[in-house]
Amino acid sequence: MSGNSQYFNMKGSGLYVHIPFCKRKCIYCDFFSGGESLADWDLLVDSLLSELKTRLQELSMVPDTLYLGGGTPSLIPSDQFVKLHDGIISILNKTEPWKEFTIEINPDDVSDDKCREWKECGVNRVSMGIQSFIDTELKVIRRRHNAECAINAYRTLSGYFDNISIDLMFGLPGQTLMSWVKSVEMALELSPEHISTYSLMFEEGTPISVLKKQGRLSFPSEDESVEMWRVLSSRLKKAGYIQYELSNYSRDGKESIHNTRYWLGNQYLGIGPSAHSYDGLRTRRANPADIKGYMHHFSTDKVRPFYNEEVLTEEELKEEMLLTRMRMRQGLDIREYESNFGAHARERLLRNADPFLRNATLLSDSYNLRLTDDGIMIADEIILALSM
Ligand code: SF4
Repeated sequence: MSGNSQYFNMKGSGLYVHIPFCKRKCIYCDFFSGGESLADWDLLVDSLLSELKTRLQELSMVPDTLYLGGGTPSLIPSDQFVKLHDGIISILNKTEPWKEFTIEINPDDVSDDKCREWKECGVNRVSMGIQSFIDTELKVIRRRHNAECAINAYRTLSGYFDNISIDLMFGLPGQTLMSWVKSVEMALELSPEHISTYSLMFEEGTPISVLKKQGRLSFPSEDESVEMWRVLSSRLKKAGYIQYELSNYSRDGKESIHNTRYWLGNQYLGIGPSAHSYDGLRTRRANPADIKGYMHHFSTDKVRPFYNEEVLTEEELKEEMLLTRMRMRQGLDIREYESNFGAHARERLLRNADPFLRNATLLSDSYNLRLTDDGIMIADEIILALSM
């Protein structure tokens, strides 16, 4: 494959830190976060560091990627940001710089001061939630920024960072193919190293799902959304981006190392309310989505675990491997699949793959099974069939 294949072959471990506060809630979002007015930053950072100390032994190697996600990590006040980062370094006894240190940010939090502070702490990748460059679309989903703010924020960031990722969304209320093309063109003009694109999802309980059920917002049809996806894919590829995962495009060598770890089943530790962890073998751990309970737990009880644990069965491991690897450009390594699950599982997989290989939605080179461009359009159907 083209692209920087060292990232895809790498085994390592990552640390994820969930910052559970947002200034206000976007109407489509089901990520766990509470209002910033509730934020006790000092207590949160103490609790995060306390959790890291108690769970360090779950990692078999020192993490070399750090990802601050949320919520809105760009809201962390300066002194708390330094305290959090220095605390992590000291607990991990880390001497090497981060291979990748990403912070998720909102455009209206970006300033020269913040950029300097993030950079001084070792941040080398920023991921900015822009979603759209059309003001009316941003307003209806209750983003805090407008297009001008996002463009200015991007220009400020690019004075400090050479690895910037932006998020774009399609299927938004009121979005048309023409307005989507405008957003994509604007993104290409800015020319970030990485672009993540998401189709709007209607998660249970989000305000946007309620508004949809009530018929109070209009959305692009399924056909229009498919066309948006096609236009996006062809424009980005033409501009030299590599689609290294179904929703992720990057310049060569700028694939997200941390996120690739999730897809490759490497180990990672997630700390903070609602954070998830995986031991790289078969144990998943999930912290409850409870900010108060989390902070109370780590300021009083440092012995009992806060997380819930799940040990994956053979069948679940198989499904997960199919789901994550088939989303990646490199596809599924059939030898690895066989070595994990046996020759019988391999035969069944190839039997299930046969119709898709024959209609050219799947491709099999010497050792890998992967989606073709036509296969990407029906990825869910293929992955489901492969796992039968
Ligand atoms: S800023 Fe991000 S995490 Fe917060 S509500 Fe909006 S989409 Fe969700």
